[in-house]
Amino acid sequence: MTESELLRRQRAHLFFTWSAQTRARTLEITDAKGARFHVADKGWVWDLESQVYNVNVGHKHPHVRQRMVEQLDALPACAPNAVLPVRARLGELLVERGGLGADAKAFLATGGSEAVENAIKFARLLTGRTKVVTRRSSYHGATLAVLEIAGDARKQPFAATMAEGLHIEDPYPARAPAGERPSDWLESLYALVEREGGETIAAILLEGFTGTNGMQHPPADFWPGVRSLCDAHGILLIDDEIFSGFGRTGRWFAHERWGAPVDLMTMGKGLTSGYAPLSGVLVRGELAARFDEEVLWCGLTHYAHPVSCAAAVGSIEALAEDGLIANAQAVGEVFAARFAAMVEDPKLPAVVGQRGLGLMRALEIEGGAGPLAEQAWARGAFLPWKGDLAFLCPPLCMQSDEAHAVCDLLVDALVAAKSI
Ligand code: PLP
Repeated sequence: MTESELLRRQRAHLFFTWSAQTRARTLEITDAKGARFHVADKGWVWDLESQVYNVNVGHKHPHVRQRMVEQLDALPACAPNAVLPVRARLGELLVERGGLGADAKAFLATGGSEAVENAIKFARLLTGRTKVVTRRSSYHGATLAVLEIAGDARKQPFAATMAEGLHIEDPYPARAPAGERPSDWLESLYALVEREGGETIAAILLEGFTGTNGMQHPPADFWPGVRSLCDAHGILLIDDEIFSGFGRTGRWFAHERWGAPVDLMTMGKGLTSGYAPLSGVLVRGELAARFDEEVLWCGLTHYAHPVSCAAAVGSIEALAEDGLIANAQAVGEVFAARFAAMVEDPKLPAVVGQRGLGLMRALEIEGGAGPLAEQAWARGAFLPWKGDLAFLCPPLCMQSDEAHAVCDLLVDALVAAKSI
């Protein structure tokens, strides 16, 4: 069967996402290993998007496979409240790594959007309030309730029937705090809370480190300032680590960098490294305890799916055993140094900036990153981009020599893109 026959069959009866059906960018992926995947009519390419920023341990990790197969053999399907070793183990691992305290508790769902929806339900049940504040330039998922509270452009086709949303403005570049004066991000939040009334706000929801909306570094006073504001008004702080979690930023979770404890944390993507759908909300112990006697009005058919839980256990074990969190930090530094040299290189005038943490990085390309992505693809690298930003988010198993090879490829691609 030729590729086009396969594409024709699939296009006939399955939708592609986020695009007009005839213009969807499609790839016939036939194999994958480590930090690369294989495309039918092309060969092996670097996976700089880790598929959907989720294959953190890398492709075809034998340990994740083994855990999943063990669970398929033991019990592949069961009801949400069934008691299983794999569920108990995953709960322990999430609390161990999550940084919300030893008595934290997780609620599990299938995708990231569902995790955020459930975090909002927790915040509303816990505070009796309804409003949720987000950053204007943040993405929290594609289901209706999360689209409504977020400011991301993907809300636009549905916006007419939705509330405006309560947003913190995050001017870029964020002005550094001067003396006692709070940074712009924080000032914008103070003004919003004063206008709305702190006693009406259930939660402030923030990405641990912003993803494709800019990979913007928050000013140093931001997270501690949000924490004090939450404490002053009884508002819950929800940290969305769906993109930034499970080692992506060179820490288990980005919030470890900000010096501000959070109340709830959403997880997805790298939780299973994409080997099976699973997401979750980790809830601080004293909040979770409320539901010891009160009803938790949350549940899903595929809650804590056993094979997904096994994928998560396998992935978390592989991240720890292979030292992938430290590797993400170290290889991230290789990219940072090479990118800094590109910014300074007079032969590459279009490269005007770079930023990021660990293996969650962006290169800023004046005039748009599209031509760079096109040239990178021609040379064997799948490079995601949006506007002026190209994103470098490979699997966390990428090695330093591979990072150098990718950077050499990008320099060639930049030179070629200049002449387009
Ligand atoms: N939150 C963040 C920070 C994300 O990056 C995403 C997805 O990109 C989501 C939530 C939604 O996750 P999902 O696409 O699995 O529903």
